[in-house]
Amino acid sequence: MPPEGPPKLPAAPLRLIVDHDALAANWHTLDRLSGTARAGAAVKANGYGLGARAAVRTLGNAGCRDFFVAHWQEAEALLDLVDPASISVLHGPATSDEARWAKAAGVRPALNSLDQVARWQSVGGGPCDIMVDTGINRLGLALSDLSDPAIAALDIDIAMSHLACADEDNPRNAVQMARWREACGVLQPRRASLANSAGIALGAAYHGDLTRPGLALYGGIPRAEFENEIAQVARIETMVLQVREIAAGEGVGYNATFTAPHPLRIGTVALGYADGFLRAWSDCGMLRSNGSPLPVIGRVSMDMSGIDLSAAPEVREGDWVEVDYALPAAAQASGLSQYELLTILGQRFSR
Ligand SMILES: *Cc1c(COP(=O)(O)O)cnc(C)c1O
Repeated sequence: MPPEGPPKLPAAPLRLIVDHDALAANWHTLDRLSGTARAGAAVKANGYGLGARAAVRTLGNAGCRDFFVAHWQEAEALLDLVDPASISVLHGPATSDEARWAKAAGVRPALNSLDQVARWQSVGGGPCDIMVDTGINRLGLALSDLSDPAIAALDIDIAMSHLACADEDNPRNAVQMARWREACGVLQPRRASLANSAGIALGAAYHGDLTRPGLALYGGIPRAEFENEIAQVARIETMVLQVREIAAGEGVGYNATFTAPHPLRIGTVALGYADGFLRAWSDCGMLRSNGSPLPVIGRVSMDMSGIDLSAAPEVREGDWVEVDYALPAAAQASGLSQYELLTILGQRFSR
């Protein structure tokens, strides 16, 4: 008889619930809003923190055929799930080893510089994407690079650029769009792509053949146009570890940033800054039990936060409560960006 190990451990006291129906619905919405262009999907940073592999499965089933990641390692992690030729790696090949890997794996690099172009050709070339920098001044070839003979020799699938200010009405958007059009005229790619999530809302002139939403797929709302179109995807629930009654004047948490104005029933939940619930939420976040508001009181600590249970006297130790994490409102409340709120979520959640 093998020795008996401990019984199966229950799941963690905090959960990240990813609504895959909402994810698929958001892709369909963004695909529709992309007009005659098709929507792809940015799944970098582990699918904006929510799980790239599960996201790619859901998005692939919904009809998405183009996936964008930043790092080569992110592409490698998806190879058994999708056609390698549907993956584009935005950082491009920084070394010949990366270029060789791309060529062997059949994953397309986005080429960002003449050095990367040369690197790609030196390993045999083949279908590639081109990133043209039209004004964000981050990654990408300059327009003046495009007349280089090395470019003319490429087999270009997607010619893309990236907008710096798509989430606002900014004259730079039209400038970038015009430069991208000019670049596409020179490059003659099979497909042209400019818009991220926010760019989709800027209209048909920004759509090209393929859009590259990320944030809005995962429930982010970068522009007002998306307000009634995009559904929340990520929900956070955490367990109440302990309940206590405190007297007026008692402090809660490190440095007693909260003091009870009157006797209070409070709870301690298993969610802290190590989980991505940053100290920005101290004395500011909101949790709920069946809709009743349970404000975060005191400083968020590494593994725990305090909540005021006044509005939900029925809450007991071991109960689950939900964090208000609708992204636009959460960003407003915390001062973090919607992107940060997603990608910061830690490793301890049961998913
Ligand atoms: C991250 C990224 C996207 C997606 O942007 P969102 O604002 O999340 O929609 C699209 N294109 C490029 C090049 C990116 O780096």
